[in-house]
Amino acid sequence: MTTRNDCIMRDAEDPFQLSRKKFHIPEGLIYLNGNSLGLMPLAAKARMSKVVAEEWGHDLITAWNKHGWFHLPRVVGNKLGNLVGGGENNVVVSDNISVNLFKVLTAALALRKGRNTVLSDVGNFPSDLYVVQGLQRLLPDQCSLKTVEPEQLLSAIDERVAVVMVTEVDYRTGRKHDVAAIVNKAHQCGALVVSDLAHSAGVMPVDLLADDVDFAVGCTYKFFNGGPGSPAFLFVNPRHQSKAMPALQGWWGHANPFAFETTFTPAEGVSRFQTGTPAILSLVALDAALDVWEGIDRQALAAKSKALNALFIELVEARCASHGLKLVGPRKMEERGSHVCFHCPQGYAVMQALIATGVVGDFRAPDMIRFGFQPLYNSFSDVHDAVERLAVLLDNREWDRPEFRTQKTVT
Ligand SMILES: *Cc1c(COP(=O)(O)O)cnc(C)c1O
Repeated sequence: MTTRNDCIMRDAEDPFQLSRKKFHIPEGLIYLNGNSLGLMPLAAKARMSKVVAEEWGHDLITAWNKHGWFHLPRVVGNKLGNLVGGGENNVVVSDNISVNLFKVLTAALALRKGRNTVLSDVGNFPSDLYVVQGLQRLLPDQCSLKTVEPEQLLSAIDERVAVVMVTEVDYRTGRKHDVAAIVNKAHQCGALVVSDLAHSAGVMPVDLLADDVDFAVGCTYKFFNGGPGSPAFLFVNPRHQSKAMPALQGWWGHANPFAFETTFTPAEGVSRFQTGTPAILSLVALDAALDVWEGIDRQALAAKSKALNALFIELVEARCASHGLKLVGPRKMEERGSHVCFHCPQGYAVMQALIATGVVGDFRAPDMIRFGFQPLYNSFSDVHDAVERLAVLLDNREWDRPEFRTQKTVT
């Protein structure tokens, strides 16, 4: 079994020691929840203070021009585009994933007139499925949701499918879909692919252009560390940009918003998928948070992600198996993202007790404890110490107290 000393040695050779220093890590905290809300980059904190005091406080309305606020959704979109293999001018920051999904799904369906099936899998994030269900109620003839088991998604693609809506990494099982293979099959069948990068972008190589993905959406508060509720992004393949139209038309997607014309003329390219005024403070925090990525080797990051996940699984299975913990999802690292769920009896109380010891993960109903690993700041000793505390609290039944059983709103 890997020892604490082995972990300390691996940390000493870790090329990401420097990037860890770019985050605020509260004293004594082991944070394994970067898949839900990333740690705060120090640069984001500094930039926020400056923006609040100077740009908002002092420059007010003139800041839209003076500090480039107006262009930020596209400027930050390009930064994200580079990080997900999306190229220049194909990504824009806007709204949240749910709203962006509505926009790209309506655009994709309109490009596949005569077909109406949106194919997805039952493991997809509920909000993604809700958006399609709402669209189906609005446009019953043009949209019909079909869900299959995750393992069946690839084989269920056929000539009737208009759009395959796939979330690359499953938020519970950590299972990774082969998006390139899905795109290949979909295109052979004349269907389009909408990919949700929520649990993959920022922690594994994503190559939207190389894989020829048609549309993509992603969020920035998880592995991109943009802060609570930081805005999402969307990608439109350049092949579709002149024809794709958002069903949500707002003045920020207009070709000339300050002409205040009464009729909508779409802006060039992906920009037309913006809706209304963006949340500038969040966008500025995100802009600063993304500077952490300068010089980061994506392959090295992915390799460390796999190593952290594999170590966590190894140690939990060695130390906690007698308490009924069972790995959720595939065992092969090539088939996984960068978070791990274990079925755990009394999982909610166990996670609350673990958080009380300073190790933060989360709980997903009905019985899963979940841990996310961001190689930019998580160390091998983090993983070791987290499992050690988990094992001790299970051995001593420390979770068996009334205060750990009361379910809070956010789990
Ligand atoms: C986190 C997550 C979301 C969140 O959607 P928002 O509308 O941005 O809150 C959506 N889809 C998936 C797959 C997620 O993991």
